[in-house]
Amino acid sequence: MSKSARPSACNLADLIVYLSRLGQASARCAETAPQSLTAAQWTALRYFARANRFSRTPSAFSEFHATTRGTASQTVKSLVVLGLLRRQSHESDARSTVIEITEAGREILRHDPLEDLRKALERLAPERRDALADALGQTIVTLAEDRKAPVFGSCSECNHCHQDDGSYFCLSTRSFLSLPEMQAICVDFEPSAR
Ligand code: SF4
Repeated sequence: MSKSARPSACNLADLIVYLSRLGQASARCAETAPQSLTAAQWTALRYFARANRFSRTPSAFSEFHATTRGTASQTVKSLVVLGLLRRQSHESDARSTVIEITEAGREILRHDPLEDLRKALERLAPERRDALADALGQTIVTLAEDRKAPVFGSCSECNHCHQDDGSYFCLSTRSFLSLPEMQAICVDFEPSAR
């Protein structure tokens, strides 16, 4: 691509927003999903299916979704009423609650409108997909720093992750990490230097 034909940062920002909207509004899934959810409800379901035990709270979700705590709580409440999420006492602190996805919630995620976007991304050549992931990750870190917002990520790319004798330990939460937890997203994530 010649330099003059490269998209401007302004056009790229528009493209990212357009891609996000298109990805969330899949005609195929709208026809097959057993019940219709709003974009915010889908985001919450995905979040609570992927977040680790330190991050499954409405306030962490509000940071992830870049919305107010009140709005995030309303979204969570609506999904609890639908039986797709449930509140549960925290395993180490009975006074606080964590949010868990239910079996019905996992079932409805099989109709996730983002599935078409995931498939389209899978069709990219691996090196282009890696370059896209790298560029988007860097942009998220820059924007989050500018806005003093947390960055979400997983343990393998986090500064707090310490490996010793084949075990993984989180220096932030002072806890050992299981392999499935290493894949989850976390509100305490601190990106390691790129
Ligand atoms: S290592 Fe980082 S991403 Fe993993 S649990 Fe700890 S703070 Fe979260």
